[in-house]
Amino acid sequence: MTEIQTARAAHGRATLHGYPRQGHGRELKKAVEGYWAGRVTEGELLGTAAQLRADARRETAGSGIEEIPTGDFSLYDHVLDTAWAVGAVPARHRAAGLGELDTYFAMARGAADVQPLEMTKWFDTNYHYLVPELSQDTVFSPDSRKQTAEFTEARDAGYAARPVLLGPISFLLLSKPAPEASPGFEPLTLLDRLLPVYASLLDDLREAGAEWVQFDEPVLVQDQPGAVLSATARAYRELCAAPVRPKVLVASYFDALGDALPVLADSPVEGLALDFTGPAASNLEALAAIGGLPDRRLIAGVVDGRNVWAADLERALSTLATLLGLAGRVDPSPSCSLLHVPLDAAAERDLDPQVARWLSFARQKTAEVAVLARALREGRDAVVPQLAASRAALASRAGSALTRDAAVRDRCAAVTGADTRRPQPYEERAAAQRARLGLPLLPTTTIGSFPQTSELRAARAALRTGRLGEDGYRERIEREIRNVVAFQEKAGLDVLVHGEPERNDMVQYFAEQLGGFLATRHGWVQSYGTRYVRPPILAGDVSRHAPMTLTWTRYAQSLTERPVKGMLTGPVTMLAWSFVRDDQPLADTARQVALALRDEIADLEAAGTAVVQVDEPALRELLPLRRAARPAYLEWATEAFRLATGGVRADTQIHTHMCYAEFGEILGAIEALDADVISLEAARSRMGIARELADADYPREVGPGVYDIHSPRVPSVEEIADLLRRALGALPPERLWVNPDCGLKTRSPEEAGAALENMSAATQRVRPSLGV
Ligand code: GLN
Ligand code: ZN
Repeated sequence: MTEIQTARAAHGRATLHGYPRQGHGRELKKAVEGYWAGRVTEGELLGTAAQLRADARRETAGSGIEEIPTGDFSLYDHVLDTAWAVGAVPARHRAAGLGELDTYFAMARGAADVQPLEMTKWFDTNYHYLVPELSQDTVFSPDSRKQTAEFTEARDAGYAARPVLLGPISFLLLSKPAPEASPGFEPLTLLDRLLPVYASLLDDLREAGAEWVQFDEPVLVQDQPGAVLSATARAYRELCAAPVRPKVLVASYFDALGDALPVLADSPVEGLALDFTGPAASNLEALAAIGGLPDRRLIAGVVDGRNVWAADLERALSTLATLLGLAGRVDPSPSCSLLHVPLDAAAERDLDPQVARWLSFARQKTAEVAVLARALREGRDAVVPQLAASRAALASRAGSALTRDAAVRDRCAAVTGADTRRPQPYEERAAAQRARLGLPLLPTTTIGSFPQTSELRAARAALRTGRLGEDGYRERIEREIRNVVAFQEKAGLDVLVHGEPERNDMVQYFAEQLGGFLATRHGWVQSYGTRYVRPPILAGDVSRHAPMTLTWTRYAQSLTERPVKGMLTGPVTMLAWSFVRDDQPLADTARQVALALRDEIADLEAAGTAVVQVDEPALRELLPLRRAARPAYLEWATEAFRLATGGVRADTQIHTHMCYAEFGEILGAIEALDADVISLEAARSRMGIARELADADYPREVGPGVYDIHSPRVPSVEEIADLLRRALGALPPERLWVNPDCGLKTRSPEEAGAALENMSAATQRVRPSLGV
């Protein structure tokens, strides 16, 4: 247990925005899922949650954090918690007649006949939040119980604490119109109704004894129109109007505040939290340009809160030194909540200790922040050993053979523009591919994965633990491939797949085989609710030791006369779902991955593969938050794709796949991929994408998905035929493919089988109308 901090230094109080919620053994997941399954009572669940919060307090204070956040803990999601705190519970969830906790979980995951809230990505991270639903009829009402209880609990245990909640502007902009909202309804119009509710939460926290309250406004790091900026000014003017209230701190992260910085600086708030890492580093000059924040508190995010690398403490300290002249009081912190990183690098006992010391997970980051705070209070001399250790770790990383592979670097440096362009124009390629493949009009195919049965998962696990030998495993996978190929032939599909039975995950499968990636054992990060992922760490120069997909693809091809698609994950997606290195531009890392894929494609081609699909579902996810940075991103991202695929013959057909239908500003980038065929999600928008692509004169072949694989529902033949006719209204038959929206791995074999049979039948029903 820590002592209460009594002495208050002018600068240098180590703090945080949030900490991982799950516990070292993912106890939260077990308790919440146990509660859902009826194995754990509500009291036990809340008891586990309280214990996890107590552990996190002890742990962070033990690392030297002096002011801890409260309210950042969540049983599911903090945006959902905010919706609850302001009373934005949709009528359908209220009407379900459930107790409070079950109503909360019904919003998260649905109940009986009640649909949950929609889930979407939290900015450009891999965390997903629940999207609050608002309408002109929403009546807000404050419920501060969670916030005040978690604050009181921390304070009573002797900690200096600062409640953190999502601010009103971000809450509204991250919400969406409820299904019953009137057309054109905009959530921001509810600001006047919402502000009194926030004022009431603030007042409850004052009563509970909070000195500071933090409102997170991450939407302000995106380009916002004047109306949002003036709403921000108004919101904080009003929230600060109460004669007695806690001091207000507005936090931003993931990018620079830009135009919102002067707006907040002109507002009466007593403090700001800014990110000074990565693209947000420009906050420093911007702060200087407005004359700093004299007399105010600045929480300076100088330790990257969303990556896994040990901080460069010297550099962070020099940023802090500059900031000392720019704010009344400067307190170091991670750049954002540590929710986005795993808990403890020290738990990774399998890693080479040389490599382990390059890493910093949540627990290590709190210690880094504490060292920086100490340096601010006591001077640099007080932390000489820590600075030396930081320097040594950085030097070891920079000089390691893992991070620097001369052969990879030479090859990257030698890449020319010609390597990133297929030499033949599309028309010539299309003719060559038509001649080689001999496909009918409206060729049918799938996106790659077939249902992942529990036997398959068990086989992979048995291989890992050694219970199943290599031969036994190969037999098991080959049997699956035989089934999948036989099914596709029987269903009459034209371009087959092997079904990806050997893949646990489309990124991890490749990361495990490529040099330069590290795997963790306990590096769990919350993706949403009780779902946690263990992203690979892309630590060094990327190289391919041996073919990664060749055996399975070749085996599948040996079973059939029809073309089997090779199936790879693209460079951008490999980066987006990994922790990436911070010691070189992402573009360089992408190029290395692209070269490894290029070699794989060359091997597939040499083995006779005529169709190769390179999936890039994350192309849009990595889009920078600020518009100004997007063209440069799209430039290197599409170049990496073309570098991976640009080495093939004219008659080898390159496919790509993306899982969403709102292309808007990346349409140009999709075209720049120069893929011969692209498959996309389209079923839910009823082929809207086909029209959009046609309107944009998209010149190549397209497979707009004809059914939604996220639903267990099996679409009827006529329903699919109808969608095909719609697509044909927009695109010429020579450029239209027929496929589902996405991979089938989450479906049952029965659902997938029935749906694909109907898809094939629908295609056969429509083809005659094309005069063939
Ligand atoms: N080929 C992958 C699959 O079918 C694509 C998955 C994805 O787009 N996310 O599973
Ligand atoms: Zn997909």
